[in-house]
Amino acid sequence: MENRAQRATGGRGGELWSRLDAFLHTDPRDAGCEAAMELLDVYAELLVGGSDPGERFPGLHAHFVACGTCAEDLQGLLASLTGDTGSGSELD
Ligand SMILES: [Zn+2]
Repeated sequence: MENRAQRATGGRGGELWSRLDAFLHTDPRDAGCEAAMELLDVYAELLVGGSDPGERFPGLHAHFVACGTCAEDLQGLLASLTGDTGSGSELD
């Protein structure tokens, strides 16, 4: 009879939930931290060179999406490769 009340608070939490979901859910293709660190420079250089490393290394791409620590390392490496330290990052 009152099933409309339960949806009343929906709306703004969507992004947060998807980020939390990404945090909790491990992609089965995820290559893991060890592989990510091993190939971090290769991955970054492909990105800097305008390629899409996610095509060549889907497991690494899945990992950088899922692992905030490795994503930060990648961003830091990219910043040093491109000399761009102010690209709207929230990491500072
Ligand atoms: Zn990692």
